[in-house]
Parts: sequence; C-alpha cells; structure tokens
Amino acid sequence: MKILVTGGAGYIGSHTAVELINAGHEVVIVDNFSNSKPEAVRRVEKITNAEIRLYEADLRDRTALEQIFADNLFDCCIHFAGMKAVGESVSKPWEYYDNNIGGTMVLLDVMRKNGCKNIIFSSSATVYGSPAEIPITENCPKGKCTNPYGRTKSMLEEILTDLHTADVKNGDKNPWNIVLLRYFNPVGAHKSGLIGEDPKGIPNNLMPFITQVAAGKLGFLTIFGNDYDTHDGTGVRDYIHVVDLAKGHLKALSAIEKKCGVVIYNLGTGRGYSVLDIVRAFEEANGLKIPYKIGPRRPGDIAVCYSSPEKAGKELGWAAENGIVEMCRDSWNWQKNNPNGY
Ligand code: NAD
Ligand code: UDP
Repeated sequence: MKILVTGGAGYIGSHTAVELINAGHEVVIVDNFSNSKPEAVRRVEKITNAEIRLYEADLRDRTALEQIFADNLFDCCIHFAGMKAVGESVSKPWEYYDNNIGGTMVLLDVMRKNGCKNIIFSSSATVYGSPAEIPITENCPKGKCTNPYGRTKSMLEEILTDLHTADVKNGDKNPWNIVLLRYFNPVGAHKSGLIGEDPKGIPNNLMPFITQVAAGKLGFLTIFGNDYDTHDGTGVRDYIHVVDLAKGHLKALSAIEKKCGVVIYNLGTGRGYSVLDIVRAFEEANGLKIPYKIGPRRPGDIAVCYSSPEKAGKELGWAAENGIVEMCRDSWNWQKNNPNGY
C-alpha cells in the first residue's frame, strides 16, 4: 500500500515507518518538525535502506496538503501528527485544539476530496479517563478527560466515527474505514539504537526521565506519589515497546483492507508495572543505579491504568513481544548512543 504517515519524523511515526517499509509498503511522510528533526527520517532510511519522500508541511496548511495529495495516490493515512504534552495542553488549550483538531480537519477534508477514506488514528488510553474497569477493554466507557490534550483525542474519535456513520446512512459506496488505536505507554527504541524518543527540554514522561538520570543529565528521578492504592504505592501503567506498537499499525492495515468501518483497539501488553518496578527493572537490565526521591502526586494522575489487549490479539493477531527488560535495555541503548538526541 502507499501510505501517508503524518508526524512520521516523530517517536512512534518513525518506528512505524520502519515496520511499514520492511513489510513492503511505500511510505510518504509529512511533518512540520515542531517536535522532531528531519534526521529521524534519514535514520529510518538508513535502517531500511529505502528512500522516503518527505514533505515539510503543517497539516493546517491546506495548499501544502492538497499538493501532497496531487503528487501521490494514497491507499491509507496513518495519522500521528499532533501535540502531545498533557501539562502544556492545560496552559495552551487554543494551540492544542487548533493543531490537533484543526490539523486533522484539514487532513480529513483533503483526504475525502481525493477519494482516500482510510485512516488509522493515534488515540490514547487517556480517553478512558479514570477507568471504570481494570484491565481496560475497548468496551469500557470513555471517561472524563482531565486535560485539553485528552479531549482532543476523545473528540477526534467522535468526529471520525461520525464521518463513517454519515457515509453509511447516506448509502455512500466508499465509506470511511477508521481504526482508532488507543496506545498505552510507549517506551523503548529500535534495536539499532538509531531512532528513539527525543524529547525537547526536561522530559515529562517516566522512561526518558530515567534514561537522562542514568546519563547524568538529570540528578535524580522524582516519583510522583507513593501513597496510591497499588502494590508499592506508586502509579501503575502498561508500558509497551514502541516497536511492538509500530507493528500494531501494520496489523491495523489488514483491518482497513477488510473494510472494517470503525474499529477500536487497545495497544498495550496487558501488564501493569509501578514506577518503582520500572526503576528496578531499568537498574537490573542495564547495571546502573537510578537515584530517586519521593515527591507529591502529579495533578491529574490516576493510580492504575493497564489494558486488556485481547481484542487486538483475537481480531488482528497482534500481541506485544517485548517485555520490560527489552524496553529498559533499548531505551538506554538509544540514550547512550545519542546523548544529545538527533
Ligand atoms: P511526537 O511528538 O514524537 O510525534 C508527532 C509528530 O507530529 C512530530 O514529529 C511533530 O513534529 C509532528 N507534528 C505535530 N503537529 C503537526 C502538524 N500540525 N503538522 C505536521 N506535523 C505535525 O509524538 P509521538 O510520541 O510519536 O506520538 C504520535 C501520536 O501518538 C500523537 O498523536 C500522540 O498524541 C499519540 N500518542 C502518543 C503517546 C505517547 O506516549 N508517546 C501515547 C498515546 C498517544
Ligand atoms: N512519573 C514519575 N516521575 C516522573 C514522570 C512520571 O513518577 O518524572 C510517573 C507518573 O506519575 C505515572 C508514571 O510515572 O505514574 C507514568 O507517567 P508518564 O508521564 O510516563 O505517562 P502517563 O501514564 O502519565 O501518560
């Protein structure tokens, strides 16, 4: 298939591009490099030994997007592009709605006008809010999102679903096919150590924070609360290796090929690890010490969040293959080889 990967220079997009190319798909990337660098795409080319058509453009730039669609006939779009920092979204809601919703609206319009109505969308476990059940299945009702970032994901899921529903009602012979992938906590990096997560400034997320402590760039990790109702009091999450996550997108393409309508899949491992579990696993996997202090809870955090990945297993034949040791090793391998990122 010929696939437009929006945000393909980013963390998950670059890893997915590798898997798509390795599986024989043709990848075209559009990215505005607001949170990434073109070097990531060059590294993907190095890993895959392929040349990638790369457009530097903002999704909100309709003229640029129309040109991309005039140059290429796409079978599907995998839509990663968006802003993703929860805290920042609270202080810059307009920017988040404009970029995530506005960018997607232009993309969807240009797609439909060009007869490409197949899309895989990067959603998030955050749409479950404070989840009504653990492990979380796709039937779990969506919860109240505590921040604008989460609301953009939840709204975009609704918008996409409405497009498909209207097509069906209108008897459209070419209705939208939409796969909503709800990611849990992606960590790790490609085994080559050539691509990985490259956060700007001080990382918000646990794993990049730990790797920067390990590298001596940050003095210690602050654990946000040890009084949660969990086995050791620290927050529990479902960490998933980014390469496994990337492979989930390949499997989602098979759903698109079968004209799936709207389908939702959790992409997680189904296992929960606490912050302290991760610190210990990282120390053991890499033979390093991670100094930490216990701090107050981070506002908006929940105690426990992990998936049931059964639906993706049954319907897509997908399951995460890498465990916590690989996640910790590959995260450190990337950081060690690229102390200053790309
Ligand atoms: P990332 O920031 O590394 O990648 C996103 C890419 O999109 C970046 O390269 C950025 O430059 C680009 N981009 C942003 N706005 C754009 C625009 N208007 N036009 C063109 N390009 C634009 O993030 P990621 O971790 O790879 O996440 C990819 C997607 O997955 C995002 O939509 C994110 O919300 C979602 N997601 C991520 C996580 C996570 O923990 N990383 C979890 C759940 C969902
Ligand atoms: N966390 C932490 N210290 C940090 C960053 C994160 O203790 O510097 C905790 C956080 O409270 C949560 C877990 O690590 O329990 C995962 O946080 P992250 O921001 O990586 O992902 P989230 O699940 O919040 O999206």
